[in-house]
Amino acid sequence: LALIPAPTGPAACSVVNPPTMTAVGPTVEETFIMVKPDGVVRGLAGRILRRFEDKGLRLVRSKFTMADRNILNEHYAHIADKPFYPEVFDYMTSAPVFQMVFQGPNAVSAGRTLLGATDPMQAELGTVRGDFGLGVDKNLCHGSDSREAAAKEVHLWFRDGIAASRSGAEVPSLERTFIMVKPDGVQRGLSGRILSRFEDKGLRLLASKHIEKLGRPKLDEHYAH
Ligand code: UDP
Ligand code: MG
Repeated sequence: LALIPAPTGPAACSVVNPPTMTAVGPTVEETFIMVKPDGVVRGLAGRILRRFEDKGLRLVRSKFTMADRNILNEHYAHIADKPFYPEVFDYMTSAPVFQMVFQGPNAVSAGRTLLGATDPMQAELGTVRGDFGLGVDKNLCHGSDSREAAAKEVHLWFRDGIAASRSGAEVPSLERTFIMVKPDGVQRGLSGRILSRFEDKGLRLLASKHIEKLGRPKLDEHYAH
């Protein structure tokens, strides 16, 4: 297999893109994606994250936490008066959730396409819900449905930064280990693949956060040896 550098520069670009298409590209958007408790408990957080990275979306924020009850009610204000909402609320607070923000061209609609229909039995195979779910009561993952919803949800869930509340998933008698995906792994979109290795081995995710740029003091302490 011979690898050659990808063509760059205006001359190469004009061969690939007709001149009329170079002026306007798809809008870069952000979308809020949340692996729900069933996805977390089943060890699917990494596999779900991987689908978004494989699509080309960039992970820009994440945290692993029990859903705050007040924020959850705000998040689901549009279904709060539905008869099924009490069940949704109990389900969403039954175990931690893994929350992420992805950035990329058409991120919102790309995210919805990757998720599939709300009811996993109606969702196409190849989508997260279509591949992993059996019923609407446990549909694995949330994704913003519009740019407005995305802006609201990112603000809602990340307004306190990335500090996670206690996940409640710790078992004191078990060993814990600290795993860090380094910048090359994150930039190459490999976080999901790496996380899923640990989940597939049977290890449980207890805490997680995405750090845009590590500060020098923390790094010095980590690498003091
Ligand atoms: N939901 C449910 N039963 C229904 C409809 C919705 O349990 O008949 C839950 C399901 O978890 C869904 C969430 O309520 O993901 C929010 O509903 P929405 O219509 O916003 O669907 P989504 O945007 O998540 O596809
Ligand atoms: Mg929705």
